[in-house]
Amino acid sequence: MGAMIAMERLRTSLRGELVLPIDAAYETARRVWNGMVDKRPALIAYCAGRDDVVAALAFARQHDLPASVRAGGHNVAGNSLCENGLVVDLSRMKAIHVDPVRRVARAAAGLTLAEFDAATQAHGLATTMGVNSDTGIAGLTLGGGIGRLGRKHGLACDNVLAAEIVTADGRLLRASEDENADLHWALRGGGGNFGVVTAFEYRLHPVGPTVLAGSLLYGSDAVRGALRHCREFSRAAPDELCVDAALVSGPDGRPAASISPCWCGTVEAGLKAVAPLRAFGAPVEDRIGPVAYTQMQKGGDELFARGRRFYWKAQFLPELSEQAVDALVESFAGVPSPLSVVVLQQLGGAVARVAPDATAFVHRNAAYDCFPIAIWEDPADDERNIRWARELYAAMQPYSSGVYVNNLGDEGEERVRSAYGANYARLQRVKARYDPTNFFRLNQNVAPMRAPGDRIN
Ligand SMILES: Cc1cc2nc3c(=O)[nH]c(=O)nc-3n(C[C@H](O)[C@H](O)[C@H](O)COP(=O)(O)OP(=O)(O)OC[C@H]3O[C@@H](n4cnc5c(N)ncnc54)[C@H](O)[C@@H]3O)c2cc1C
Repeated sequence: MGAMIAMERLRTSLRGELVLPIDAAYETARRVWNGMVDKRPALIAYCAGRDDVVAALAFARQHDLPASVRAGGHNVAGNSLCENGLVVDLSRMKAIHVDPVRRVARAAAGLTLAEFDAATQAHGLATTMGVNSDTGIAGLTLGGGIGRLGRKHGLACDNVLAAEIVTADGRLLRASEDENADLHWALRGGGGNFGVVTAFEYRLHPVGPTVLAGSLLYGSDAVRGALRHCREFSRAAPDELCVDAALVSGPDGRPAASISPCWCGTVEAGLKAVAPLRAFGAPVEDRIGPVAYTQMQKGGDELFARGRRFYWKAQFLPELSEQAVDALVESFAGVPSPLSVVVLQQLGGAVARVAPDATAFVHRNAAYDCFPIAIWEDPADDERNIRWARELYAAMQPYSSGVYVNNLGDEGEERVRSAYGANYARLQRVKARYDPTNFFRLNQNVAPMRAPGDRIN
């Protein structure tokens, strides 16, 4: 009875909305992007602003409830939801202000990539964001933020000038180069470990409105050759050019290679730059051409539709060696679902010119983020699709160098440490300073560094 009264009090104190299991909105509210995730939180607090975040966190503390943080809800493991706890949902916090003169955007944490890109492109500006437009800017940025502009402009997190955050004890802090600089460092790659970020300030760059992008599709007999050519071509590519690759099922149902360049300079220069890439072999399709930047950013939306069943396991590759190409092609051959893909997201360029300890994102030397994405629709097919992704991941392990925290599932402490790498101990010290009780632990968790004699749960 007391709990119900307390929940009703929280409901009336929020400017946003509180959804409980008894509410009609609950079934929809507890869903996230990955249809595999089926958790039942006790409360979902749709926050309207920072004051609501403070109130929701205070409630969770008082009632000793686990709290998770949801922005875009895209995390593959569903970490933004919790069983029997409180979800701090930011998805309705959509304010964005673009200063075209200073080239800075102040963006609330509930924006999706599509919303952010639309607002910044209205001024001919952009900053690096990912490839599926209903991903949240918040989770993406806090883990790093790999995207098509990265080789020219760095990761999303490299462009974070400042962030506003509510800590576990309800303090409102600003983190920038001049204020709480240790927190500013940790928020750029350290994930959701330090508090609830309510807004980011991003550095913007002139981009578009048109870029040169699209894909070349090679049939099964040319897959290996296409990947090799792509690797050789990409090694010397200028920063304006990012060439992602994927293994997919072609129109004939057999394995195919999709090579996807994106040139973020002028279209004329781009056409010259990609000509040697296009000259290879006889692609089944060549769909490279001028396209609106905002349109290109939606390229993955159809495949990565909300509610499908997804499973993936990721790893960085310092290079795409001959053996790695062979292992990829051989493992892909057994793919059980025609929707599934293996993605190679290219890094390098400006990403690699930042020192590994300059921000919490440590994997600066990676050439590619490589991950099999199993995609299917029938729960009866769960096991074989998951097995395929695991086996492909295992086959690629000898060529890998750590994992991207944003592509990590629920995979245990060793993998979490492999995500933070040499920056882990420093992250633990920042964690001890801003979240010493590990209140924010439903994430790829950094345990607070203990002082001798400390007891931390
Ligand atoms: C289809 C698809 C495509 C993707 N493509 C890319 C890509 O191109 N590049 C890339 O870098 N990543 C990509 N990702 C990975 C993506 O960056 C992560 O899934 C990221 O966690 C999504 O952010 P979100 O806000 O949508 O997630 P959510 O699930 O809402 O949040 C994930 C976690 O982030 C933390 N978090 C989120 N918001 C906050 C906040 N405001 N304050 C504190 N902690 C917070 C929490 O720990 C939370 O559990 C992709 C993911 C998917 C599913």
